[in-house]
Amino acid sequence: MGSFNVAKFGGTSVANFEAMSRCAAIIESNPNTKLVVSSACSGVTNLLVELANGVQDQTHRSEILTKLAEIHNAVLDQLEDSTQAAAEVYTILDTVTSLAEAASIQASRKLTDHLVACGELMSTHLLTQLMRERGIAATRFDIRDVLRTDSNFGKAEPELGSIRQLAEEKLIPLCQESVVITQGFIGSDAEGNTTTLGRGGSDYSAALIAEAVEASGLEIWTDVPGIYTTDPRIAPKASPIPEISFSEASEMANFGAKILHPSTLVPALRHDIPVFVGSSKEPEKGGTWIRHQVESSPLFRALALRCNQTMVTLRSAKMFHAYGFLARVFEILAKHKVSVDLITTSEISVSLTLDQTDTSGGAPQLPEAARIELEELCSVDVEHNLCLVALIGNNMSESKGYAKQVFGTLEDFNLRMICYGASPHNLCFLVHESVSKQAIQKLHTELFEG
Ligand code: ASP
Ligand code: MG
Repeated sequence: MGSFNVAKFGGTSVANFEAMSRCAAIIESNPNTKLVVSSACSGVTNLLVELANGVQDQTHRSEILTKLAEIHNAVLDQLEDSTQAAAEVYTILDTVTSLAEAASIQASRKLTDHLVACGELMSTHLLTQLMRERGIAATRFDIRDVLRTDSNFGKAEPELGSIRQLAEEKLIPLCQESVVITQGFIGSDAEGNTTTLGRGGSDYSAALIAEAVEASGLEIWTDVPGIYTTDPRIAPKASPIPEISFSEASEMANFGAKILHPSTLVPALRHDIPVFVGSSKEPEKGGTWIRHQVESSPLFRALALRCNQTMVTLRSAKMFHAYGFLARVFEILAKHKVSVDLITTSEISVSLTLDQTDTSGGAPQLPEAARIELEELCSVDVEHNLCLVALIGNNMSESKGYAKQVFGTLEDFNLRMICYGASPHNLCFLVHESVSKQAIQKLHTELFEG
């Protein structure tokens, strides 16, 4: 196992000069940290995505470009010697300007990735210079030289073998000499085209990089002091969880606790790299350690909420006692690259929710072509404005009585698509958006505040 630590900083952690300085202090406080993975400055990726979607109105396009320049200038202004970093950032902003114009004529996924990658490319110039001015030998590294992916723009898949080999060649030696600052979220395919891992993908990048360098630990610094029993903005009595297992944390990430990108823990788990999650604003508050082995495994660990759910219900009398129906359904969904999240079935119907992880934002949509094909098979009903509530815990499929407690607490709610029993670590269901927070509050009071 490599002897060094990888630290990742999210967008809010590198939002401005003060925030970046806090990151620098965190990096300095752990001499073991040799590799730093950074997001784009807060808000930047959203602006870039807007440009990438094609802004025809030139005035509006310039407004966005001005905003982007302002965010980065605010940091440059506070550096002692910004000459080099400014030159680099302005060159990237020029690229953004021309790509945004191209996107206003014809947007494409390839162009989008090229454009949105610019956020991380800029923030890392700023962070590197800021670190140098604090007296740290920091080197900026373009992760596209290591993070090889396929060419599925917007949601590229990493190629682990190549990443590992390239990391050994190019990245590990550099980490021996200095603190390396690199980008999350972005990569490149075999032809050298820029790719991205999907929105929020910098956590995943950090984990992939940590895996490739065989890091001893991975710190994810964000704007919350670790994982809580639920979002404290929804349930003020939510409490921090000092230690949680990989399986529980994966369930939480999958089910919408927005703390970690859902794929983050896969590489960490593969290489048994302990992951720490904490707030760069309040590092003294500590955070959550995610490990293989944990001391306690309570029945109820946490509640997660994920909104913007799209539920698709497929009904067909032909499904009754027939075989091959679900196979056909999934064949069609697979063909149109629709990723299914939850699924419940009855004799003549099947309900499923759609996953969303690509760069487009908003509620996931059932592609029209998929709907047309499905309608040849059955009736298709699409519903929006639903939220997924997930109760995460341990040994839930083997415990008695708790379902009564959960559903008793929620007897006044209309629960849809209850999924329960498939995993020992969760129970989940959909509720209408308008009552979702209330459902979380009631459950938290009943299960976690006793
Ligand atoms: N900057 C990217 C985003 O906002 C990646 C990340 O921050 O994880 O989606
Ligand atoms: Mg982020």
